[in-house]
Amino acid sequence: EKAELRKLVNSHTVSKDGRKIELASNIGNPKDAKKASENGAEGIGLYRTEFLYMDRANLPTEEEQFLAYKEVLKIMGQRPVIIRTLDIGGDKELPYLNLPKEMNPFLGYRAIRICLDQKYIFKTQLRALLRASVYGNLKIMYPMISSLEEIRQANSVLEEVKQDLQKENIDYSSNIEVGIMIEIPAAAVISHMLAKEVDFFSIGTNDLIQYTTAVDRMNEKISYLYNPFNPAVLALIKLVIDNGHKEGIWVGMCGEVAGDPRLIPVLLGMGLDEFSMSAASVLPARKQIQGLSYEEMQKVADKVLEMNIADAIEAFVKQYQ
Ligand code: PEP
Ligand code: MG
Repeated sequence: EKAELRKLVNSHTVSKDGRKIELASNIGNPKDAKKASENGAEGIGLYRTEFLYMDRANLPTEEEQFLAYKEVLKIMGQRPVIIRTLDIGGDKELPYLNLPKEMNPFLGYRAIRICLDQKYIFKTQLRALLRASVYGNLKIMYPMISSLEEIRQANSVLEEVKQDLQKENIDYSSNIEVGIMIEIPAAAVISHMLAKEVDFFSIGTNDLIQYTTAVDRMNEKISYLYNPFNPAVLALIKLVIDNGHKEGIWVGMCGEVAGDPRLIPVLLGMGLDEFSMSAASVLPARKQIQGLSYEEMQKVADKVLEMNIADAIEAFVKQYQ
């Protein structure tokens, strides 16, 4: 079984009827990138940079960040590497920032909201990213976007940093794609507008499920309500994929759902372009997709989107797992 899977390490991910998918991996540090590469990942779909900032007494310097990003880019070579800007707050704390205790940390001062408010933190990270960009195929991704204004503000900081580097004669890649996480329902609803101003979407189901269903993803008492088969969640995912494609951008997913064999057939059928998951899930997902027909899964996805009970959807898709 395992040896059978290992044979797929260097192959592409193509459905039975020829639809090509990109299977990428989620990482938290350069070591993970090595593991992802060894496990056949075709790219990094999410580098959670917050781990660089955690378990220490102060902010990481530009140089420290530069070295970490460069290492990941070099490991992946020409394969795409999506590095997400700082997504702190919620369940991830940074004591040295002295952030006030909040009633609802997941709805609070976090991620891009902190970066747009404390620009020196954001600028340092963007400088490190741009400097590292010449070592590979970097894509930058903003987390927790809920409006068009945030994209424009973040891009204008990025532009400022680019100009600073130009003045200092420091090189950076001229074709860095910039995308956003779609993990807030507001962003999903206006994804047709947001798609006009970014190069890609990556759907963050971990948060999208929590915000869509008003279910704290950490609360075990209500975890039975935290369900990716919820028809509202599936409808939003389909909406985001369609809106991205209408504007000619690609749409990926980096939440846990992307590596879930129960949902992969439905996501394939919905037209998802990129799936990013833990390194260990890449080869099983490749094998699964190679055995599926895209045309048939499109019909399955259409049927699923007409169903109204999460458990019934889960039972129906089981046959394609
Ligand atoms: C998500 O929300 O789905 C996601 C990938 O980001 P994180 O789990 O880091 O919040
Ligand atoms: Mg998230």
